[in-house]
Amino acid sequence: MTASNQLSSPPAWRNWAGNQKFVPGETAKPRTEDEAIAILARTLQQGRPVRAAGAGHSFTPIVETSGLLLDLDGLQGVLSVDQARKRVTALAQTRIHAFGDALWQHGLALANQGDIDTQAIAGAIATGTHGSGVGLRSFSASLTGARLVDGLGAVRDIALEAEPDTLHALQTSIGMLGIMTRVTITVSPAYFLHEQIVILHIDDVLARWDDLRTRYRHFSFFWMPSDESADLYGLHNAGKDFCMVKLYNEVPDGFSPAAPGERADRSYRIYPQVFEPNFHEMEYFMPDSSGRQVFAEMRQLMLKSLPDSKYPMEVRFVAADEGWLSPNYRRASIVVSVSGTPGTDYWSYLRACDAVFRQFDGRPHWGKLHFITPERLEGLFPRYDDFKRVRRKFDPQGLFLNPHLAALFK
Ligand SMILES: Cc1cc2nc3c(=O)[nH]c(=O)nc-3n(C[C@H](O)[C@H](O)[C@H](O)COP(=O)(O)OP(=O)(O)OC[C@H]3O[C@@H](n4cnc5c(N)ncnc54)[C@H](O)[C@@H]3O)c2cc1C
Repeated sequence: MTASNQLSSPPAWRNWAGNQKFVPGETAKPRTEDEAIAILARTLQQGRPVRAAGAGHSFTPIVETSGLLLDLDGLQGVLSVDQARKRVTALAQTRIHAFGDALWQHGLALANQGDIDTQAIAGAIATGTHGSGVGLRSFSASLTGARLVDGLGAVRDIALEAEPDTLHALQTSIGMLGIMTRVTITVSPAYFLHEQIVILHIDDVLARWDDLRTRYRHFSFFWMPSDESADLYGLHNAGKDFCMVKLYNEVPDGFSPAAPGERADRSYRIYPQVFEPNFHEMEYFMPDSSGRQVFAEMRQLMLKSLPDSKYPMEVRFVAADEGWLSPNYRRASIVVSVSGTPGTDYWSYLRACDAVFRQFDGRPHWGKLHFITPERLEGLFPRYDDFKRVRRKFDPQGLFLNPHLAALFK
């Protein structure tokens, strides 16, 4: 890149997992929001395709473009905090971890977080990134406003109160309505968490299923199909049919855990976990009410699929929301993820998992591998046609679509 705001000859882009690679037509790295808007307006008014990269942690080809790939790393930082309404406005590429200290000094915190905190806030919102907790919603659902540049190159400020339908279309829109330069999200009062990580046999987890779901703010678990699965995650005291169970509850400041190995700290210091192995992940959301049945079917399938089903199955819970393309649209979910082993042909195993999820009307995580077709989308997302109508209004030339997205949403 010659100057940071000049279009330049493109290097290849690859995602964190290394399963998505492409060479964009051109790249740009604006240093400010105004520069980003100017580059976007110019490019889109000339009818050239554009996509933005977040932190590259999606497994699906949703960043790919043959046109301009925007690196928004210059657009980071919390811009304003509305303590009374518990709303925070931040530049689009602000990393999840950057909200921790910045919000805490105002007595606020992100309401929930997932397993890692390296994603950009706009990337996390674009795909419905979530943590776990029956009462807790995804990052997308926290979106109450955004500034974006639409497919005609026009800047739009969208707010929940003024345009609720548009906002709900935008909440989980995989970058198809425009490039967001800033987002406003709802947050929580600051809170401390007590973390307990316990190894339980699956029979114990099943016996305590309802209690664990409701007694803890966060309940999630990794179920191990084999001893090797436990070893992959460094859980040498676990083994086949055991689960690593994560339990968090809110505690007062100064709380000191009684048992060795437990932690209590500010919320944002508890959530992130260290991921050692690479993996290629698939994740679907099923009705929470069918949780035990989904788990039972998946357990049988994974035992049958060994050694291909080497990675543990992660099980989480997410509350319902209003996002039109959200996998939690008006449906509380049990969320199940499985992974293929990089370097192997894992597609028939993942396809068999997809067949189980399909029986339970599974909706995909847009950032993780899936087998969804337009025919399936119609039945799974009641606002699918409405979304496509808004998409066409915001981007009549389809400049934010790439082949993967065009196949599903044109
Ligand atoms: C190790 C690991 C752990 C993970 N843990 C979780 C988890 O706990 N929970 C969970 O739900 N998911 C998880 N994920 C998936 C991940 O959170 C999502 O795929 C998320 O989208 C990644 O965010 P990102 O910033 O990397 O965005 P990217 O993957 O770079 O981009 C995601 C999408 O957002 C679009 N986009 C980015 N910026 C903008 C913008 N400014 N305007 C418009 N569109 C934009 C991109 O074009 C793309 O379509 C995990 C992934 C990995 C690799």
